[in-house]
Amino acid sequence: MTDATDILEQLSQIQAAALEELQRVKDEAGLQAWKAGHLGRNSPVMQVFTKLPQAPKEERPAIGQRANQVKLALESAFSTRNETLKEAALSQALQAERLDVTLPGREQAPGRLHLETRTLREVYHLFGEMGFQVYRSPDVETDDFNFGLLNIPEYHPARDMWDTFHTTTPGVVLRTHTSPGQIRAMREFAPDPIRVILPGMCYRYEQVTVRADIQFYQVEVLAVGRRITFGDLKGTLTQFARRMYGADVRLRLRPSYFPFTEPSAEMDVECFICGGKGCPVCKQSGWLEILGCGMMHPTVLQNGGYDPREFSGFAAGMGSGRIGMLRHRIKDIRYLWEDDMRFLEQF
Ligand SMILES: [Zn+2]
Repeated sequence: MTDATDILEQLSQIQAAALEELQRVKDEAGLQAWKAGHLGRNSPVMQVFTKLPQAPKEERPAIGQRANQVKLALESAFSTRNETLKEAALSQALQAERLDVTLPGREQAPGRLHLETRTLREVYHLFGEMGFQVYRSPDVETDDFNFGLLNIPEYHPARDMWDTFHTTTPGVVLRTHTSPGQIRAMREFAPDPIRVILPGMCYRYEQVTVRADIQFYQVEVLAVGRRITFGDLKGTLTQFARRMYGADVRLRLRPSYFPFTEPSAEMDVECFICGGKGCPVCKQSGWLEILGCGMMHPTVLQNGGYDPREFSGFAAGMGSGRIGMLRHRIKDIRYLWEDDMRFLEQF
């Protein structure tokens, strides 16, 4: 009896000591060490089970029952402590990694289209509605495409109208206008009728001033067909100008000269700053030049692959930068390419 009483007393001490130690465990590693020490194979409570066969037969049930109780109590305490530690760890992590939603967000800086791009897209749209397609041609051209095939032979004084960037390869230049695209479009589509616009950057070797830059966007307009007349030219360009500058804007065509058109003209709109009275922007004339145009020269049609006795056509060219400048009263063309945000953000 004394043996059994001793063992039962011992088991109570084992339980009390283990539970007390468990309360001091602070982390996962400590918890695992505690489990090995108090519920593992060599733990005091398990030793009682191991030695059970050595106890007197009549005492075994009481000892076994008590040992089981202790084992279950320790397992249950372990599980509770495990939960408590996990919750503590979680709430600590939540506290440490807390997201402060009251902090003001970083300001987004959405981009926007450049004034020039927006003007170009508007030009595409207006001509698109009249059945014109966009046709792209190269920025780097041969002397032949840029001049020769456009009825500007070598040593012709008309070449002085375009100060040219020549490359180190003889006969290769940066295009001075979008007109070489006329030849390319005609050679691609001949003998079908053509309605295209040719937008692109042009380059001229000249002094940069408030009105001229060494590079600028130009849009060429080209229509070729069997019965195209000067009336078609006037109608198309008038429609374009009215939709671009306002339905009641006054327009005029003024005789001019270009080697690749005959007859040639320039189109002016009434100065919308002074209303035609005369001001510094229109140089006191009351008119602003918006584009050059004309009926295609027979030689150019022929160079494009069309028989000038059967076909006719008109062409026009305008600077899109100038359109934007006129509409927004920008006085200096250099602003367009200076990348100054104070300027760009206004549009
Ligand atoms: Zn004016």
